Formats: sequence, structure tokens, C-alpha cells
Amino acid sequence: MILPRIGSLEVCGSWHERFAESPDVLKSTRREHTVVSVLDFEIGGGEFVTVAGPCSVETEAQLMATARHVCCAGARVLRGGAFKPRSSPYSFQGLGLEGLKLLARARQQTGLAVVTEVMSESDVGLVAEYADILQIGSRSMENFSLLEAAARSGKPILLKRGMVATVADFLRSAQCVLENGNPNVILCERGIRTFENSLRNTFDAASIAVLKEVSHLPVIADPSHAAGRRELVPALARIAVAAGADGLIVEVHPDPDTAWSDGEQSLDFAAFDRMMSDLRPWLAARDSAVLYAEEALG
Ligand code: PEP
Ligand code: MN
Repeated sequence: MILPRIGSLEVCGSWHERFAESPDVLKSTRREHTVVSVLDFEIGGGEFVTVAGPCSVETEAQLMATARHVCCAGARVLRGGAFKPRSSPYSFQGLGLEGLKLLARARQQTGLAVVTEVMSESDVGLVAEYADILQIGSRSMENFSLLEAAARSGKPILLKRGMVATVADFLRSAQCVLENGNPNVILCERGIRTFENSLRNTFDAASIAVLKEVSHLPVIADPSHAAGRRELVPALARIAVAAGADGLIVEVHPDPDTAWSDGEQSLDFAAFDRMMSDLRPWLAARDSAVLYAEEALG
């Protein structure tokens, strides 16, 4: 497997000064890459990993059809919210335990790993029984007691960047997971709030490059929550590949217009297939660029 060598320890030097009390998240001569093992594959180990599925688990038919489809199209992980952080208390809040059970059934039927969000410290034990990876959502990035409890579950943590978090804030939250004995953190850039309002969030592709430069943790991109509009998702996915991301998390739904949450930004099956096949030459270019750089370094 090809592991890109991005970033020099010199560039990291100023970060080591800033993170003097919490240097574990930073790259060092001892630790250049963290590779997170999930079921029979790895995240951050050179393979570009796609996580795909609906924003929310809605029904058995919706979830199973999506799981089967994204699995055939090359995804490794099924996403789906059972506990949903919604902007309005009147919106669908998720199926809870029933959703977790459906996710576990989808894993059994497809072999996909499962990632789902845990919103509350008291749900960590329950969610960890069903999921292979625990997602900490944007709105919870600075909920340190949740981070601590999730870390202690021993499951890999998919940590989403807070909407108003700097890269340093983001890394400090990751440090909290490491600090609590869990080295398996996957960082996720999902867009941040800025004055720009042409997208749902501003996709900070530069943060992917910065994170890959200064941290050993794998980084994935969420083009769906950044774009907020399904037409833009494939373009942001391509940008993520070029920026050095280790994978993607993408919302996919059998019939996005009827989705119970985030339908506007969800791809239907045909659009997901197209995005996956259109990404192939970009991924091949990335692999050759990495090889070229490795050869140039000798
Ligand atoms: C989600 O993944 O559906 C979600 C709510 O994401 P975020 O926390 O990035 O808003
Ligand atoms: Mn969503």
C-alpha cells in the first residue's frame, strides 16, 4: 500500500510548540501514520475508503436497499443516523434503538462496517454494542465528557469538525480521545460556518492538507454536509482526493426527495455510482503523484 509522506517535521515544529501539552495528535518521528483497522480493512493505510448511506435510518427497506447498493459500488462502511442532532426539535429525531438494530442487520447482510452517531454520554454503551465506529457529530465536537466516554468504549471514533472550530480546536478534541486511551481516531472535515452562503457550509479543503501535514491521524471528507446540494457533492469529493483525504463519507438515499433528513444533499443510487466511477482517474492520479513524490525523495 502507498502511504503518502506529506509534511515535514520542520513544518510541524511550530505546532509542536503550540501543542506542547498535548503533542500526541501531531506527527513525530515515532508516529507518521495512524492506521485504523475496522473489520477486515483499514482507514489511513493507503486504500481510499468510502463511507456511504442515508443521513437517517428510516425504514428497513430504505436501509437494506441502500446498504446493498453502496456495497456493490465499492463502499466499505455504511453510515446512517439512529440518534439525530437536528436543528429543530420538531424535526425527525431518529429511530433510536430500532435504527441501531437495522444497522446491525445491514452489516450482517452486506459485510459493510457500520458507523453511526452517538449524541449522549449515556448512549455510548448502547451504540457501541451495535456500531463498528462511533461518530461524534459537529455539534458535539467539544462535548468533552462525551468524547471521554466514547473513547473509553474502545471503538474507533469518527470525529467531525465543529462548525466553528479551528483546526487547532479540532485537534484538541482528537487529543481528548487519545488521552483517554483510544488511538483510533478518524478526523472528518465537513465544512465550517463562514460569511459565504453559496454552500450549506464552507468546505475547508485546506484543512485536509493541513491536518495531513501536521497530524498522523487519518482524515476523511464529508462533501454532503459541506455542499448541502447534491449536484456539488462529486466536485467536492474530487477536491478532497486532491487535498490528500484518506476517504469520504457521503449521504446516499434510494429516493432523496422523500428523505426524512438531508434529502437535498443526498445522492440517489445512479448519482452515487457516477461519482464513484468518476473518482477513479482522480484516485489513480493521486496514487501516481504519491509514487512520484516518493521516488523524488529517494
Ligand atoms: C450527519 O452526518 O448526518 C450529521 C449530522 O453531520 P454533522 O455532525 O457533520 O452535521
Ligand atoms: Mn445528514
